[in-house]
Amino acid sequence: MNYLHSAMLELGMTPKLSGRNLTAMLDGGEGPLLLLNSHTDTVPVGQGWTRDPLAANIEDGKIYGRGSNDAKGCLVAMILGAKRAFATNAPKGKVLLAASCEEEVLGLGLEVLLPTLPRPDAAVVGEPTGLKAAVAQKGLLLLEIINMGRSAHAAHGGGINAVESAARDVLALSKLIIPGAHTALGATSLHVTQISGGDRHNVIPDRCKLVVDIRTVPSVSPEEIIALVKNTVEGEVMIRSNRLGSVETDISHPIVKAALAANPAGRAYGSPTLSDWVFLKGIPTVKAGPGDSKRSHTPDEYLEVAELEAGVDFYEKLIRAYFAKASL
Ligand SMILES: [Zn+2]
Repeated sequence: MNYLHSAMLELGMTPKLSGRNLTAMLDGGEGPLLLLNSHTDTVPVGQGWTRDPLAANIEDGKIYGRGSNDAKGCLVAMILGAKRAFATNAPKGKVLLAASCEEEVLGLGLEVLLPTLPRPDAAVVGEPTGLKAAVAQKGLLLLEIINMGRSAHAAHGGGINAVESAARDVLALSKLIIPGAHTALGATSLHVTQISGGDRHNVIPDRCKLVVDIRTVPSVSPEEIIALVKNTVEGEVMIRSNRLGSVETDISHPIVKAALAANPAGRAYGSPTLSDWVFLKGIPTVKAGPGDSKRSHTPDEYLEVAELEAGVDFYEKLIRAYFAKASL
């Protein structure tokens, strides 16, 4: 964060630190406010690296390191792209750069930063999308299903086995089809991802818990899904998390047009993965940046230097196109 702070100072920006989030306003006078956001945190280094994960060494045109692809490349490209856009023929309006922490582990980043900022007219979230514009993003609904039984000695039998009723719930959920597919995002997905029940071999278990990971789309409400699940299972359905909703932006909005103009080879698409966009509800947003999402969170994560340079061009063009369209 200190490194980024001094780099922004060197670029002639006036960065402001609040908590572990860094912002800088580029001011071209009266006009709309465009937020450019990306995150500085990464997932842990993990196993399997054949290169130094913290050195950012360049080898065969690739920058290797944890976070090179997700999402420090996007952040650097945003900063340099914005710098270029304001260096000559500055757009009429303001760009707010926000480097936020804790996207990967939610709780301290953009969610707490946003209420302290002026409300943006549009936003770009920098994530590795190969410079394609994500115009919709799936949300996350986490449910727990608690099956209760009655314990008994396994040798005597009797009791009510909570693991067995949970097993019936798992099978029933695997067959559940949630209607209402979204044009860009497809269908809601639902998977039982954790199960825990019983604590010794000789006791009929009286409790079993399932965790259900549901990736939602804007065309089906979480309430509809919860009602469907309740009708499908024997256990009690509890909501663990329903705060990360799905989001989408009208493709006729200037921010979408600007992102498509900045990369004519790209196309608008729906993204299955979460990002800080979930906190920008009601603000027209696209998610776009250099790199490939499939390289994120892997050993030997890298970003090509050429991708980074294309990213700088992309954000500069996007900024110019947005302010040209927004002021029409
Ligand atoms: Zn990311």
